[in-house]
Amino acid sequence: MAVVGHPDAPRLCALGLAALQHRGQESAGIAAADGHVVVSHKAMGYVSEALRDEDVAKLKGHLAIGHVRYSTTGSSNLMNAQPIHVTYKRGSLAIAHNGNLVNATGLRRAMEEQGSIFNTTNDSEVILHLIARSQADTLQQACREALDKVEGAYSLLIIDPESVVVARDPRGFRPLCLGRLDGAWVAASETCALDMISASYEREVEPGEMVILDSRGGIQSLRFTEERPASMCIFEYVYFARPDSQIYGRSVNAVRRRMGEALGREAPAEADVVIGVPDSSNTASLGYSQVTKIPWELGLIRNHYVGRTFIRPSQEVRDFSVRKKYNPVSHVLQGQRVVVVDDSIVRGTTMRKLVTLIRGAGAREVHLRISSPPITHSCYYGIDTPVSKHLIASSHTVEEIAKYLQVDSLAYLSVEGLMSAVHSSEGFCRACFTGEYPVAPPESASKEVFEGSLSAGSPETD
Ligand code: SF4
Repeated sequence: MAVVGHPDAPRLCALGLAALQHRGQESAGIAAADGHVVVSHKAMGYVSEALRDEDVAKLKGHLAIGHVRYSTTGSSNLMNAQPIHVTYKRGSLAIAHNGNLVNATGLRRAMEEQGSIFNTTNDSEVILHLIARSQADTLQQACREALDKVEGAYSLLIIDPESVVVARDPRGFRPLCLGRLDGAWVAASETCALDMISASYEREVEPGEMVILDSRGGIQSLRFTEERPASMCIFEYVYFARPDSQIYGRSVNAVRRRMGEALGREAPAEADVVIGVPDSSNTASLGYSQVTKIPWELGLIRNHYVGRTFIRPSQEVRDFSVRKKYNPVSHVLQGQRVVVVDDSIVRGTTMRKLVTLIRGAGAREVHLRISSPPITHSCYYGIDTPVSKHLIASSHTVEEIAKYLQVDSLAYLSVEGLMSAVHSSEGFCRACFTGEYPVAPPESASKEVFEGSLSAGSPETD
């Protein structure tokens, strides 16, 4: 999230981050600049805990960038929270990065061989080092040189005392948009952050585009690399983005609804009621209900005071969240043949517990419908899916998964059905469903690659 050219930039940034909370819940931070220096504050926890009013009030400036972290490289600790703020030969600089670099290990090892000292164990710091080592005269040129060397997924915000550089990787893996507010520029991963501060949507930052924003409202745009085939993450539509956002030029709500409709056409069920697993599957379940003509009901209530299970960093925390997260509505489920629509199954343990809950509330039959194809491969571009061996669909058939989950029937949306929902057969990454990686994965799949632990195992194994 960035606000550039507004006297209240840090506070607006904090508000925008609150709308982006679903994208990362481990830590939050803001770096602000007043034309002379960059200052920053970051802390662990939700935005409301990490960025208290008094913390934000200390950050002065017309420019601000902010970040909510969900660790995909490096542990969940304050050292790795973003923005990463450094002082170097040209002054101060801070970076906020969404995505994952696939060649960070090699770049970092080479720089360490030459004497560079890294302060964090996440991949984003590599970009800062590349910028700092550049001999270029301007930040813009230094960024350009740095981005020429990195590969993978990045939506980036880089702030120096006088400007903010906004850049999106050449394949556009992660979303990034621009907005306007009272003559100021705003950049955000999702439009729900623009809505939060009443900024108007201007446009997407194009894949391979760098935008330089200054505190006087100026904007420059340039391409920093040759064009490559777009690989926008389709999982953003399936699960990650908020349905009230528009990303990649499409409404998340509309795409998610079409996924549910396609699922209804592909895999109808003999049932009395359709329920969604809140919140991310509500929209798809409505689409499924509309096509199959099976009435939709609110069959599960989600406790919003517990974080999303999928993106919490440890097994212990996730198990706790699952137990606390949902409550079934017995009045809706008692004696019914229930279709449960969920967006995805990662490891399967959360769903198994949910099925037990739903049956415990009196459901006579449980038919599970998933509004995306089976996840068979890990993501290396910014979504923290576990290594393949922990993905239930990488080693089990649909029948075996149905048996494990103890459901009466199970069906997934096909890849074709998924693509029909975005009205396109190309331009999207769908590697976690197909194994067709648009950029070669890194040598080490471990998120602790820079912490001396080179084991390929994910700490999340449920
Ligand atoms: Fe998105 Fe899946 Fe591609 Fe990762 S592998 S960028 S989650 S579509």
